[in-house]
Amino acid sequence: MATIERLDEATVARIAAGEVVTRPASVVKELVENSLDAGAGSVEVAVENAGLDLIRVTDDGHGMSREDAVLAVERHTTSKISGVDDVERVRTLGFRGEALPSIASVADLAVTTRAAGEGASGTRVTVGEGGTGVEAAGHAVGTTVEVRDLFDRVPARRESLGTPKREFARISDAVSRYALAHPDVRFRLTHDERTVLSAPGTGERVDALLAVYDRTVAGQSTELAAVEGGGDEASDDGDDGGGGGRDDRADGGDGEGRSDAPAVRVEGVACYPSVTRASPEHVYLSVNGRPVRDGDLRSAVLDGYGSLLPGSRAPIAAVDVEVPPDRVDQNVHPAKAEVRFRDPERVARTVERAVREALSTADLSRAASVSF
Ligand code: ADP
Ligand code: MG
Repeated sequence: MATIERLDEATVARIAAGEVVTRPASVVKELVENSLDAGAGSVEVAVENAGLDLIRVTDDGHGMSREDAVLAVERHTTSKISGVDDVERVRTLGFRGEALPSIASVADLAVTTRAAGEGASGTRVTVGEGGTGVEAAGHAVGTTVEVRDLFDRVPARRESLGTPKREFARISDAVSRYALAHPDVRFRLTHDERTVLSAPGTGERVDALLAVYDRTVAGQSTELAAVEGGGDEASDDGDDGGGGGRDDRADGGDGEGRSDAPAVRVEGVACYPSVTRASPEHVYLSVNGRPVRDGDLRSAVLDGYGSLLPGSRAPIAAVDVEVPPDRVDQNVHPAKAEVRFRDPERVARTVERAVREALSTADLSRAASVSF
């Protein structure tokens, strides 16, 4: 008699969900990423009871057809990659096709959506303990995902959570990170119908900073930007005649590798050293629009401030790094909260330079009484 058994689908889904959906904030993160991947210009997050009773994310992205909405809630269904090679090139925040089914295995899920050019009515797909339901429903072009009674079916997980206050702080932090990484998108976060965060989506990073902090902080900040590589100089290479031959070229490379290296672009906003915090948690990092935690990049930001930072204080800054997707592995962490660069030193160097240059040209004496 065999002692090894194959697990049924529902059990497999519940176990997998444990990695993706660890707490209310991870649901918010997955849903916001889906909205951004859908090209949303506006993302509204409404939360009740720290996300345990309700998490609702509404976007004005491209929406889904009825067929796609039904597929979306199944496991390993994604519109974002079609094979293993695409994982290397992916530009979207999602690609594993796990979020919606994982959420559905630990909560009641409803997806209401309409794609452009799809008549007047959209689709509502519900997944609950009674199974999946599909019906017509009105919705503007875009998508609303509602998650109710999170972890009611998984009492142990529900018990392992922090206080509602603590769990909501995590949600607020997650939304703040996306707002800072996507200043061109309008974000709104409400908790029990109170607006907690409202970022206008002007494209100005300082406006996102103002939404997350206040006038004192945003008023003492400067934008930063730096580019390294990109290969413009490399196009001269063909001109130096036929004389050289292969050997010659090999050791006379005169920085060929360097100028050929794909561009690292750094953009962000950094507060003056007059506004600091005790905790380094206020250094927000993102890579290709994905909020990440990265000790080396954080150090690079601190190095950019150099001796300007008083004592053991940490700065407030939001820094986004853009690299071609094949220069970074985004698939090294279950929640994709960490990435691995192919050339981490070059990225760190560019970040440090961006911060240093921005602070050296900023008028650091500018007072906090800047008006918005
Ligand atoms: P992934 O994001 O990894 O593809 P998900 O389970 O999060 O997996 O979503 C499955 C699919 O559902 C996505 O690939 C996308 O096609 C669709 N989808 C999910 N959320 C949205 C949304 N807000 N707007 C449009 N399409 C969505
Ligand atoms: Mg997703």
